[in-house]
Amino acid sequence: MDDDLGRFCCLNPGCPDHGKRGHGNLTVPMRYGPNHTRRLLRCSTCKARFSERKGTPLFDARLPTDTVVAVLAHVAEGVGTRKTARLTGVHPDTVTRYLRLAGGHAEQLHDELVAFSPDDG
Ligand SMILES: [Zn+2]
Repeated sequence: MDDDLGRFCCLNPGCPDHGKRGHGNLTVPMRYGPNHTRRLLRCSTCKARFSERKGTPLFDARLPTDTVVAVLAHVAEGVGTRKTARLTGVHPDTVTRYLRLAGGHAEQLHDELVAFSPDDG
């Protein structure tokens, strides 16, 4: 059942509905992970998508998903921040931010990202 979506809110700081719980702007376009137990949440207002896992904004509105995947892939392979930034063309601060988001689980986060379907608009 998806009747507990009221617990969640859009995690995109630039979204008009950011932080509004139970606002009705979230849908579950797909499930992923082991036994499809994890839900991908999508904000119908800003089109951002997030893992339901609390406080994990997998998608940065400023970065294409492919870029985020590339950053996490490099990090997961142990590539340093500066080199990752150079290879992926993002700012080192952005790499650092995703490193912090991943919290040492860059590989897992990367796997989650690549499990997502391409943007369905
Ligand atoms: Zn939103």
